[in-house]
Amino acid sequence: MRITIFGSGYVGLVTGACLADVGHDVMCVDVDADKVARLEAGEVPIYEPGLESLIRQNRAAGRLHFTTDAEQAVAFGLLQFIAVGTPSDEDGSADLRHVLKVAETIGRHMDDYRIIVDKSTVPVGTASRVERAVAAELDRRGVALDFDVCSNPEFLKEGAAIEDFSKGARIVVGTDAERVRSAMRECYAPYSRQKDKLMFMGVRSAELTKYAANAMLATKISFINEIANLSERLGADIEEVRHGIGSDPRIGYHFIYPGCGYGGSCFPKDVKALAHTAEQIGHPAEMIAAVERVNARQKSRLFEMLCQAFNGQLAGKTIALWGLAFKPNTDDMREAPSRALMEALWEAGARVQAFDPEAAGECRRIYGERDDLRLASQRNEALEGADALVICTEWKAFRTVDFAELRESLASPVLVDGRNLFQPETVKAAGLAYYAIGRGDSV
Ligand code: NAD
Repeated sequence: MRITIFGSGYVGLVTGACLADVGHDVMCVDVDADKVARLEAGEVPIYEPGLESLIRQNRAAGRLHFTTDAEQAVAFGLLQFIAVGTPSDEDGSADLRHVLKVAETIGRHMDDYRIIVDKSTVPVGTASRVERAVAAELDRRGVALDFDVCSNPEFLKEGAAIEDFSKGARIVVGTDAERVRSAMRECYAPYSRQKDKLMFMGVRSAELTKYAANAMLATKISFINEIANLSERLGADIEEVRHGIGSDPRIGYHFIYPGCGYGGSCFPKDVKALAHTAEQIGHPAEMIAAVERVNARQKSRLFEMLCQAFNGQLAGKTIALWGLAFKPNTDDMREAPSRALMEALWEAGARVQAFDPEAAGECRRIYGERDDLRLASQRNEALEGADALVICTEWKAFRTVDFAELRESLASPVLVDGRNLFQPETVKAAGLAYYAIGRGDSV
């Protein structure tokens, strides 16, 4: 099949590479000329395990192309995927500017039947808006052409995107048209050999499924963080509580790891967008709003712990940070808890020395050169002259620590663990003050 994908970000690139890998002819189009030039030069602008080699192999096989030429891209594929960003607008709603722009572009250039596949995360009713935008452009041109719009939300996780795309739990397609069902069956056939994996439903249900999934996962995180904060005040250990509840199959262990809050490009904006939709239709979603409030509070926990450890005297202190990305195996720092912490530390007059296996470049891009930020190239380098260490991301490489050595490296013996990676007794036995999430009075 010939497939066009608008947007060469995380979702567009992974979708493009994975669909090319099973034999489709894929053209990825992006408005960012620099990004396209880098991709054409064989460079992958994001860090995602396995993506670089998948792109290289499929380009070499002549099945994957990159362009900025929208006209050529619209002419290329029967399927026109929209995988552009839908960031939060100021009021929390999803900003559909890029999605509608692509719809207009498709309407401007199409000269044959096209199926427009909405892969971006968009509020219920967006497929109809895309349809109207395409129709308006066709009207303007004075041409009558047939087209369909369907919803095909993406559930991949950054850091395991290829695995998720190829072996995800389900592929959701929202459409009422048999010809769309048939084309989408063909597109996903290599990835949906398992019975019932390809789920067809109404367009609005498919659009809501994506928000419901992310809101559910964010709810689990905020729920366990709420219980962790209670544990801390009640003298309980959230790790024991987590095991106690996770063993119940009705609850399960997934997504109940306490931490310093969720971040990334999806949960924060999707929870906000769903809350906004609910407000708009006059049915405020109480739980969703609370999930967001709990998370905002959780992101300030690490700073509060440092304030407690240093009696509020953080000016002039140097704080080592391990982990900048919002989660391991990505360089993405969008809405990362590390950012809330660093910004609060700078505000308080402290310096930050940070190490992340992948996100240093992204951190430099966001914050530029500053006197109060040093980006270390190794984890131990971040400890040089530091007063305390804070762990913000649970990279595997941080799970093993020689605590006696750490004790020697730090001017004050303070370890703040935003991911509960260690046993409090072991850390404390080495003479460190250990602050973790929801683990009783661990100071
Ligand atoms: P991204 O910001 O990484 O990439 C978006 C790309 O679209 C950029 O390269 C941008 O230049 C390009 N673009 C913008 N306007 C364009 C246009 N008119 N024509 C062509 N290209 C255009 O975004 P992303 O993380 O890939 O997310 C895309 C969508 O998928 C969002 O709606 C997001 O919520 C959703 N999603 C993301 C993830 C994830 O983990 N990142 C997972 C599931 C769903």
